[in-house]
Amino acid sequence: MNDVRNLVIIGSGPAAFTAAIYAARAKLNPLVLAGEKNGGQLMDTTLVENFPGFPEGVLGPELMRRMREQAEKLDVEVLDKNVTKIQTNSRPYEDSPHLMRTVLLGQDRIQTKAVIIATGAEANTLKLPGEEKLMGRGVGVCAVCDAPLYKDAQRVFVIGGGDSAVEEAMALAKYAKEVIILVRKDKMRAAAIMLDHIKQSKNIKVWYKSEALEFIGDKKLEQVKIVQNGKESLFPADGVFYAIGHTPATKWLKDSGIKMDEKGYIFVKGGENHTATNIPGIFAAGDCVDYIYRQAVVAAGMGCMAALDAQAYFDRFPPARE
Ligand code: NDP
Repeated sequence: MNDVRNLVIIGSGPAAFTAAIYAARAKLNPLVLAGEKNGGQLMDTTLVENFPGFPEGVLGPELMRRMREQAEKLDVEVLDKNVTKIQTNSRPYEDSPHLMRTVLLGQDRIQTKAVIIATGAEANTLKLPGEEKLMGRGVGVCAVCDAPLYKDAQRVFVIGGGDSAVEEAMALAKYAKEVIILVRKDKMRAAAIMLDHIKQSKNIKVWYKSEALEFIGDKKLEQVKIVQNGKESLFPADGVFYAIGHTPATKWLKDSGIKMDEKGYIFVKGGENHTATNIPGIFAAGDCVDYIYRQAVVAAGMGCMAALDAQAYFDRFPPARE
């Protein structure tokens, strides 16, 4: 493969496929490099009830299947291959005003005039025994998404001590009878105002110096093994949610020249030309940028913005020799 493209979109979650749909309709003829494990974080969820347009809810994998189908109906080419590197040291493309970037897929290389990076992020987990088997069956990573499924649940645990842990606990406390936050240290790092929310809640408790060790259950979670002050015990539970941070899927951008923060979230300009990175013609959208909202609908919105920003880039410098 040694292609020259207008626009390469890297990723396969809501940001990537929304960008693809908009770019295809703008006749930018995008190529989506979707990765081998495609679909993003929604592939690990069950019922999504907060994506507009689905009053009965929609399964995460089904939502992603539909987004991809919508893009493919618009003749978007999708390759299920992993991008290993992007070279941003550019060179002009023939008599075109565009600087070419190179996207590497192992040995293969693709030359492109513009790129949208939408590789998402992954919720951190502890890879505890039972986790893989019970993920989506009581073990989860987004309580804000799943809380209504815990209506009348007796007890749900949240693991973590930051703002996300409090936010997840508050979402769950509207439904479950008891929500317990497991904090590994003897204090939480969440903001004072968030800690006030816990104090005001009747059904959120905090267990300090407590760590989950194992998730136990047959078809769904039944018990969590927890160590507190060196003593291990089993506690019945209907759910357990991780809130120990996220890691953006941007390690492959190391040494690319694209500016990121210390955790690997990509910096975008904001304001007009919102999704532009520090490299002309390279845009970024979704959870690899957004460490605050982290919602599918927000990622989709940013994907749309990135496609419109790419379109504006081509409007300023129309692609030559199409
Ligand atoms: P943070 O990095 O702030 O917190 C992660 C938490 O997970 C810490 O308490 C940490 O414990 C704990 N943790 C990490 N590893 C482990 C482990 N192996 N076992 C047990 N606990 C562990 O992540 P958040 O997702 O909470 O927040 C990310 C950013 O988003 C922050 O800037 C936050 O302010 C922001 N945010 C803001 C919100 C709001 O304003 N409404 C809501 C949600 C997030 P320890 O403290 O011991 O290191």
